[in-house]
Amino acid sequence: MKKSDRQLGMDRDITRRDFIHDLSLASLGLAMPMGAMAGANGGEPQPAGADYPPVRTGMRGSHPGAFETAHALARNGKKFSDLVDLEETYDLVVVGAGISGLAAAYYYRKQFGADSRILILENHDDFGGHARRNEFHQGGQMRLSWGGTMNLEFPMFSDTANALLDELGVDIDELLEGYEFEYGSGPKGSPSVYFDAETYGRSELVHGFSFREGGGGDVGSMIGRFPISADSRESLASFYTRRENVFEGKSAAEVKEILSGISYTGFLKQYGGLTDEAADLFIKTTHGYWGLGADSLSARECINAGLPIMHLLGYPYLSGSGDDDAGGEVAMFPDGNASIARLLVHALIPDVSPGSNARNIALARFDYSRLDQAASPVRLRLESTVVNVQNNGPGTRVTYANHGQLVRVESRHTVLACYHRIIPYLCPDMPREQKEAQQYQVKRPLILTNVLLRDSKAFDRLDISGTYCPGRLHGAVWQVKGVNTAGYRHDWEDAGPVPVMFWGSVAPPDSRVPPKEQHRASRARLLAMSFEDFEREVRTVLDGMLGPAGFDVQQDILAITVNRWPHGYAYDYLDLWDPDWPPGQAPHEIARRPLGNITIANADAGADAYTHIAIDQAWRAVTDLPAGQIPS
Ligand SMILES: Cc1cc2nc3c(=O)[nH]c(=O)nc-3n(C[C@H](O)[C@H](O)[C@H](O)COP(=O)(O)OP(=O)(O)OC[C@H]3O[C@@H](n4cnc5c(N)ncnc54)[C@H](O)[C@@H]3O)c2cc1C
Repeated sequence: MKKSDRQLGMDRDITRRDFIHDLSLASLGLAMPMGAMAGANGGEPQPAGADYPPVRTGMRGSHPGAFETAHALARNGKKFSDLVDLEETYDLVVVGAGISGLAAAYYYRKQFGADSRILILENHDDFGGHARRNEFHQGGQMRLSWGGTMNLEFPMFSDTANALLDELGVDIDELLEGYEFEYGSGPKGSPSVYFDAETYGRSELVHGFSFREGGGGDVGSMIGRFPISADSRESLASFYTRRENVFEGKSAAEVKEILSGISYTGFLKQYGGLTDEAADLFIKTTHGYWGLGADSLSARECINAGLPIMHLLGYPYLSGSGDDDAGGEVAMFPDGNASIARLLVHALIPDVSPGSNARNIALARFDYSRLDQAASPVRLRLESTVVNVQNNGPGTRVTYANHGQLVRVESRHTVLACYHRIIPYLCPDMPREQKEAQQYQVKRPLILTNVLLRDSKAFDRLDISGTYCPGRLHGAVWQVKGVNTAGYRHDWEDAGPVPVMFWGSVAPPDSRVPPKEQHRASRARLLAMSFEDFEREVRTVLDGMLGPAGFDVQQDILAITVNRWPHGYAYDYLDLWDPDWPPGQAPHEIARRPLGNITIANADAGADAYTHIAIDQAWRAVTDLPAGQIPS
């Protein structure tokens, strides 16, 4: 039976507890045990509270206050007035303090001189863009989690990205040594699937089964416990045990064409013999990676995402990635790629975090009051939404809104490292073809909700590290542990406070429409959801899944941070929905053309949602600047 908000502990004032916690820690200087926090800057605990955004809980990601100005401009055509000229002049203004914007500032100093004066403008109250750090202290120890991007997909890095990480002191081999994390499947415990009572009529945690890997020799009995129809169970059990080539006699090119032209769930039904109900169970497996269900992606794309197909193409194994871990081969910092953002900020403005480096960055103290100091050649200004950028004689002129005040600065160059879709509104002078190309980019909405639990005992009793939830808002739930890098340790044997990450996207009202329409509809739903909606959701899942193992939903949740990303992954072109363009004519290539002294970065400029793409595009945008060409 559905529990009331009270039974779920919704009346527990976790927000207020955070507040008291922060205040008392700040005043007593007791933010965390010294051992947990001693590090980069003298071993003092990081001051907690209002001036340090990574500890903020509640609605984060695109938090209230961050996007309203941009929406007023783009959606309502708002005209801004009462402009104040700040009379500040820079060599470079960067719009957007994500990885791409920070990397652009870094490259600019290399290309144009270390004493270049740079202003980086960012609409959020924290830097990093999607590279966001969630830091918890409510359990008495510092616990870190990812607020957005986490994987360093190093096998795909370009020479440019490798060189930047080298210069920042990041050693992938060292990161790999401390990396003991597998998405939802270990190293401690087995993978599992959680069927919730609200969706499936009864609650069932199927231990040892994963939709990617199946369930080994015992797959039949595991699937036998799925709360779905007998026909659907049978079709699934047969799917996982078959080994054949359903395209026997066809050429590789023909097979590729078929797999690129059919949705994954279509393949499961047509060639895998699954019922509609059984195929639907796979839909959420791709939500966290694409913001789209496996019914909107091609079978070919889902092979690359590690979903089972290969065993029906004549191979003895299930999945295409050859790697059981859905994340593929990656390295990680304990706060994800927020550490890369922090290293870049430190390289640009050393005073913010003296003494920090790639080996201690996870513990380094960051003094946000030093981000925007008049004496510093590089300044990073938060809560500043750019509303206009224009070429102005030999330079550029940038107008932005900061706390309701409209202000203007002058700059020789400007790099737009913000989302492409906003650029036509910032730069009305862009050619029409370029504006249309920028509008082609519709980012994929994503959610990453971190919940700090008092301890991991219930997970340990169930012998799971995470689970897949086909019926819930967030398709995946994982304990965040075992990323023992950059000075931080949180071992799997530690049964104390643990962040649990809920990952996914908001299902669109209609998944038969083209993906961009789905994204727009999901985004609207996401923005309409309140913090309480998310809180109720995670409490319901934790109670149903862990309650039988002793988890007390009223007592055992210490903090919740919702990282809401209505504009998440950059849109990458999809087999089923996007045409092939001639070289140089793809929308992202047209969208990123320079305009006078203004050039364009962001992962959008590479039409691919990765940290290394954001870096590559920053480098290109800086070398696109007039007088910024690399001497041949
Ligand atoms: C939940 C999530 C998980 C991810 N996981 C991974 C991963 O594991 N590995 C990976 O490689 N990639 C991942 N990504 C992709 C991620 O987008 C890229 O890796 C990279 O961080 C993008 O950086 P960026 O600078 O191009 O864009 P962003 O991070 O989006 O930064 C752009 C910044 O510009 C700001 N901005 C926009 N408009 C304005 C304006 N008008 N004025 C001022 N500022 C503005 C934005 O608010 C934002 O802060 C993930 C993304 C999300 C959302």
